Amino acid sequence: MLIFNTISEIQEYLKSQQKTGKTIGFVPTMGALHAGHISLIERSKTENDLTVCSIFVNPTQFNNPEDLKKYPRTLDNDSELLQAAACDVVFAPSAEEMYPSLPQLRMDFGTLETVMEGKFRPGHFNGVGIVVSKLFNIIKSDKAYFGLKDLQQVAVIRQMVKDLSFDLEIIPCPTLREIDGLAMSSRNTRLSVEARALAPQIYKVLNLAQEKLQAGFSTKEIQEVVNQYFSQYPEFEVEYFEVADFDTLEPIEAKNETGKTALCIAAFLGGVRLIDNMVF
Ligand code: AMP
Repeated sequence: MLIFNTISEIQEYLKSQQKTGKTIGFVPTMGALHAGHISLIERSKTENDLTVCSIFVNPTQFNNPEDLKKYPRTLDNDSELLQAAACDVVFAPSAEEMYPSLPQLRMDFGTLETVMEGKFRPGHFNGVGIVVSKLFNIIKSDKAYFGLKDLQQVAVIRQMVKDLSFDLEIIPCPTLREIDGLAMSSRNTRLSVEARALAPQIYKVLNLAQEKLQAGFSTKEIQEVVNQYFSQYPEFEVEYFEVADFDTLEPIEAKNETGKTALCIAAFLGGVRLIDNMVF
């Protein structure tokens, strides 16, 4: 496995590989890797000749400086996991390498970012859009792999690829969960033992809401069910719980009869912000 820290070095290497006709799959991450990330690497390996994983905790997508400071950084462990998964190339640039100066460009994703993550994390998708564009331009992969755990991120990236004619295919991948249903996340390592034991309630409430929606409950009724459910668990501070159209992410009044429905939640638990969703 090759590890590069500079843009010029990785570009030189990837160009030489592409000249020999090799296809490239790309998995962008912020590190603190777990089996969810590795599932993206594995998928890329089945579909490409070379798999590149980037590890970069992107400062411009954190609207909360404390969250950025506390974001876990585990490069040695990440390298071991990637090596074991037979990842071919790692790109781990410094912040200075990625941002020699602060970008002046601002990205606005319209209605895609006035809801949920965009609404509660102002500027987040601007930061995501800029760093992912930079990475796409550096790696020039044929395909890029993103987890549906970050459903809104997938929607934003797809829109960006369409609007800016990026020449690559976006492959959305399913969310990997722990045995108790908790969506795998780098942030889970920050949960205390007590909070970790409670965290799967997020998945339980998503299942409950799905059941009720299938039974014909309206969004308003579901939101009451969810509020009532969490009243048993005052440790959770629910930021949003939305029933949305899978494609537009616009809130809907009840189950989508013609397309997919997405249930999306963000909640703080013991100072850690967790997100999850379910699509049906
Ligand atoms: P992150 O390092 O959190 O930015 O995540 C890097 C990529 O891994 C993103 O495309 C995430 O959506 C994806 N990812 C994170 N958690 C999971 C998971 N539990 N299952 C599948 N993909 C995931």
